[in-house]
This record gives sequence, C-alpha cells and structure tokens, in this order.
Amino acid sequence: MLPLVDGFGRVATDLRVSVTDRCDLRCTYCMPAEGLDWTPRAQLLTDDELVRLVGVAVSRLGVTDVRLTGGEPLLRPGLPELIAQLAALTPRPRIALTTNGVRLAALAPSLAAAGLDRVNVSLDTLRPDRFLTLTRRVRLEQVLEGLEAARTAFAGPVKVNTVLMRGVNDDEAVELLGWALDTGYALRFIEQMPLDAQHGWRREEMVTAEEILATLGSAYSLTPAPGRGAAPAEEWLVDGGPATVGVIASVTRPFCQACDRLRLTADGQVRNCLFAKDETDLRTLLRDGADDDALVAAWLGAAASKRKGHGIGEPGFTQPDRPMSAIGG
Ligand code: SAM
Ligand code: SF4
Repeated sequence: MLPLVDGFGRVATDLRVSVTDRCDLRCTYCMPAEGLDWTPRAQLLTDDELVRLVGVAVSRLGVTDVRLTGGEPLLRPGLPELIAQLAALTPRPRIALTTNGVRLAALAPSLAAAGLDRVNVSLDTLRPDRFLTLTRRVRLEQVLEGLEAARTAFAGPVKVNTVLMRGVNDDEAVELLGWALDTGYALRFIEQMPLDAQHGWRREEMVTAEEILATLGSAYSLTPAPGRGAAPAEEWLVDGGPATVGVIASVTRPFCQACDRLRLTADGQVRNCLFAKDETDLRTLLRDGADDDALVAAWLGAAASKRKGHGIGEPGFTQPDRPMSAIGG
C-alpha cells in the first residue's frame, strides 16, 4: 500500500466523490437561482470509470472512507447500484453520503440495502418560509420525511449539517438544537465558506463558531467532548451529554493541519483541497487506456502537492474557480 502523503506529512484516507454537479435545490450560499451550466453527461465519469478509480484508491493507496456528494448525489441515476459496486471493493471502504434529503424518503431503504453505511443531511431551517428563502424551493416536508426514513434505514445516528446566515436563520440555532435533541439527530453547524458560485461571501457577514457557541451556551451547558482526531467538527456535550452538538469552524479555526481528505469531481478531476487551484485529470488518463500503475502515480502526484492551508483571509487569497457544487462539498 502506498499512502497518499503530501509534503507536510499528512496522509489522505478519506475520499470525497462527487457523483453529479446538478441539484434540485438552489441554496443561496451555494448557487444562483437559475442554477449553473451543468457538466455535459459525456464528461461525467461513468459508474465503471468511477468504480475503477475508487478501486485503485482503496486497494493500492490506503483510502478507507468514501463519501458520495455533489451537487445532489440522489439525482444520479442508478445510485444504489453504484454503491453496491463500491461496497464490493476489496478492502471494503466505509461509504457515506451527504444529501439535501429531498429524495431520501424514497431512496433510503435501497441505499442502505446496497451498502451505504451513513448519511448526513443538510438542513438550515425548520421554518417553511425560510426554507423557501434559503433554497428557493418548497421542499421542507420532503427533507423531514427523508430524515425519518434515514433514521429507520441506517444503524448509526443521522447527522444534520446546518449553515447559519446572518439575518436569515442565525436566530434559529437554539431551536434547531432543541429539535435535534428531541429527535436524536446529530446536529453540526458549519461556518459559511467562500465557495458560492456568485462570489458573494463576506467574512464580516459570516456567523462565526464563537458566535454560534455563545448563542447555544445561553440555553445549554456545553463542555468539550473528548477525542476529535482528524474530524473537522469540534464536538460539545450538551448539558453533560450523551447528546452532542458539533461546530465545523473551517474559516475561523481551520483544521488543515489534520486534513485527511482528497476529492474526486464528477468529471474525474482530483482536487487535494476545496480551495485548490489545480486539478489532476484522471478522466483523460483513464479514457486514454492508462493501466492501474499510471493511475496510482497520478493519484500520488495529486496528493503530494497539497498546500499547507486554505489561506482564507490571507493576502492573495482567491476563491477557487469552481463552486462547491461542482467540486463536491
Ligand atoms: N447537495 C448536498 C447537500 O446539500 O448536502 C451535497 C452537496 S453540498 C455542496 C454539501 C454541503 O456543503 C452542504 O451541507 C451544504 O450546506 C454545504 N455548503 C454549500 N455551500 C457552502 C458554503 N458556501 N459554505 C459552507 N458550506 C456550504
Ligand atoms: Fe444543492 Fe447542496 Fe448546493 Fe444546496 S448546498 S444548492 S442542496 S448542492
């Protein structure tokens, strides 16, 4: 096994795989109302191509965890069959999915049966009018049904990811945590990052981890939960536990030094960071008939050039050309 090591000694074992850049919501912090120019289908990896690339990563390069994302991964036709193929790889990776939950009620049983181990559902508000403002779609009920279905279908706790936006839903933090405690979902708040297609992010407008913790701390007692490891979320015991709440402070408390992630876009490009400037084109290699050794070398090269940190807030920082939905969040 050749580890996917970079120049700072970090080893990537967690692969984020985007299976589509399309989406059925239009979250304001992610994409414009009209959507984006979706990648033409011929440029997307087929199931066989995707399984081959992930297969090389798990069998030769030490990748242990695969997270399917997008765009909205549940829009990919035949997703259960793709998951079944990934679950048949040796050694079998743990397989997780990040979804907006809209189509989860219908799909959760078949995804679990295919071998999906865990799901994270993104939900920023419990209020229908706000859901419409935030996502530009009327789908809150479907997402809540999707969460229920996930709770039944999967063994571990279902995680819920929430982005707070100032003046939009930042007054809902305590209510969201109360709901999560009642329902048993594991809630994590994520700081908003400069990854929107419209380039509208402003640091001064971002709701910081410190603010989130202060707000939650006014209603609950929070104490640090032990054992963070490489996980980006700082976990807090709520009122002594066992329930926890997480805060992912990607901007104000970056965890780049412990990052173990690598990303494969839906069109077959490896990115070693959400904020990377360069990509490594595995799709062309693959379609030109590269053997596994050549793919291994390309994966290793892509991992090796990872920068020390994302550099948000530093002089010269610029947003990546591709938005989060095209990179795979
Ligand atoms: N469509 C799926 C979803 O929403 O869960 C998967 C892809 S989405 C890009 C993955 C995660 O990125 C979601 O939790 C979403 O809230 C988050 N996200 C999108 N844009 C973001 C931004 N600018 N800053 C922080 N998180 C963002
Ligand atoms: Fe779609 Fe997810 Fe982006 Fe929202 S955050 S627009 S659900 S890709």
